[in-house]
Amino acid sequence: MAKIQVLDKYIANKISAGEVVEKPASVVKELVENSLDAGATSIVVDIENGGINKIVVADNGKGIESEDVKTAFLPHATSKIKTVDDLFNIGTLGFRGEALASISAVSEIEMTTKTEEAVLGTHITIEGGDIVSFDEKASNTGTKIVVNNLFFNTPARKKFLRKPKQEEGDITHLMQKFILANPDIKFKYITDGKLIYNTMGSGCYDNIYTIYGREVANNLIEINFSNHKYTLTGYIGKPIIAKPNRTYQTLFVNNRIVTNFMISSAIGNAFESFLMKGKFPFYVLNLTIPNDAIDVNVHPTKQEIKFDNTGEIYSFFLNAVSDALFNLNYVSTIESEDDEAEDEIIESAVDQEIDAKEEDRPPISTPLDFDKYKTNSTSLSPFGGRSFDRKSTDLIFNSSTILDEIKITTPPQSNQSPNIMKEEEEQVDFAKEVQNFKTIGTLFATYILLEAEDKLYIIDQHACHERKNYDRFVEEFENANIPTQPLMIPYVFTCNVNEFSFFVDNLETFKALGFEIDEFGHNTLKISEIPYFLNDINLESLIDDIRKDLGVFNKTQLDFLKDSLAKKACKASVKAGDILTPSEIKSLLADLSKHKVLLCPHGRPIVVEITKSQIEKWFKRKL
Ligand code: ADP
Ligand code: MG
Repeated sequence: MAKIQVLDKYIANKISAGEVVEKPASVVKELVENSLDAGATSIVVDIENGGINKIVVADNGKGIESEDVKTAFLPHATSKIKTVDDLFNIGTLGFRGEALASISAVSEIEMTTKTEEAVLGTHITIEGGDIVSFDEKASNTGTKIVVNNLFFNTPARKKFLRKPKQEEGDITHLMQKFILANPDIKFKYITDGKLIYNTMGSGCYDNIYTIYGREVANNLIEINFSNHKYTLTGYIGKPIIAKPNRTYQTLFVNNRIVTNFMISSAIGNAFESFLMKGKFPFYVLNLTIPNDAIDVNVHPTKQEIKFDNTGEIYSFFLNAVSDALFNLNYVSTIESEDDEAEDEIIESAVDQEIDAKEEDRPPISTPLDFDKYKTNSTSLSPFGGRSFDRKSTDLIFNSSTILDEIKITTPPQSNQSPNIMKEEEEQVDFAKEVQNFKTIGTLFATYILLEAEDKLYIIDQHACHERKNYDRFVEEFENANIPTQPLMIPYVFTCNVNEFSFFVDNLETFKALGFEIDEFGHNTLKISEIPYFLNDINLESLIDDIRKDLGVFNKTQLDFLKDSLAKKACKASVKAGDILTPSEIKSLLADLSKHKVLLCPHGRPIVVEITKSQIEKWFKRKL
């Protein structure tokens, strides 16, 4: 007997089923994608026991004609592509024609479907790939699929399922992404009889509110950025709501949920100077790109895609996000305790009140004066490749924000538009006006207190100083002119082999930043020159700081290495607990107006404000 044989259809289907159907969430993903491809405007997903016992997906899409129903369950049966050329211009979520075949091979599946023209619907049941029944059934236009007993005939795979709650968690996470990716579609999501989401198809902002709660929704920056080829829409979170991991990052390309390392690092890099270590930006973004500029056929479950022009996409994202971030104002406001109490963070989707009342929702967007931003600095940073000249690029700048400053807590939402515009103006004035404010003094040798008409401003002198040094670094670096000063006594330090080779490998980088470092014997180095303006630098703490982070440096690109080193140098040049003289305070404040953003280079706020009426509330002079 021949040793090589063609596998029979059962085995072949089960093998390909393994690729597509890995767990209950994969079934939900494929079925909802089919509903979306069928033009549904309303989709219901109802699961039991983490989808292991039952998954129902029902839609009001265009349905399947009776004569096509059996075919739809055959492997490689699809209505979505016909020719090889189609494969390079895919406008639907599905195209492989494998989902229904794969799912029906490993479950007991039931489908009821009807097109608009048909009088009666078609009903089919299939168990482990065998058709059990096929008949007519009265139904509405659309398709309803019930998947029972997933993996009933593949015990090996069933064994690998995790606890129902965990499988349910994956499905919930997936549903969140579908809801975010399809802002105009109504979704109902039910688990074990409990209604989790019931969205109205009322837009991305409302959906973010539903899924992530008020804290997040109140701290979003709307993105609407395009050039001749690409358009990016959606929201990024202000730095203040950055998250401890990447699960709050959602990216769509042509409404397809994808993960893409290159894009997430572009966004991460744009956020770099705004975030503290270990924090990840929040975002929900959709890239619209011609279908022929991407290849979606590179992954069995279509989660990854390939771009024709990676470099272009990288800088597009970097610019879009940097632009939005650098045009915010960063004066934090202290609100009353009552307001804070209201402001619990509701993030867990499952705990979330499903039918949030309409009037609770903040408005969707705010009018913005774009011209105001156009006069802002054109260059963002020389380091991360972030630097770009807005005039020379073909980018239409259109970044708007819900509230144009960081809020530690949220103000009352009434009379939205006038209030916001007024606050914006005040914020913009702050940096310019700051020199005219009355200096009350310094607090804890750390904070400068300023009195304006009806506000108390608290300025972190160190954060402020750091920002000043960093901006100066960037500027002088850009002009390839970092003036240096020789040290009277060179700073000599000894380190281990790894550290030594790091420094030796990067001598040029240090030199470009104004640090003259040379080898000085076995595992020993000598710093003989430093940037001129960093006269207060504590070299010991700088070197310690660099050593601590060597692992990170090794992985980063040169540009980010420079950026990180510059930030560290700025930090090491700021003395803690120093009492500033009035003239030092004056010069710090004078430079405030030149700051690119009111955040220190590591993302901490520089200015916090307390209003007079707030203080009056504390003393019960005013309610
Ligand atoms: P693909 O989506 O890759 O085409 P599937 O196996 O998921 O492959 O589906 C096979 C075909 O069945 C689809 O091409 C489509 O014509 C039809 N179909 C599946 N689900 C639906 C649905 N919910 N509404 C209408 N047609 C559907
Ligand atoms: Mg499909």
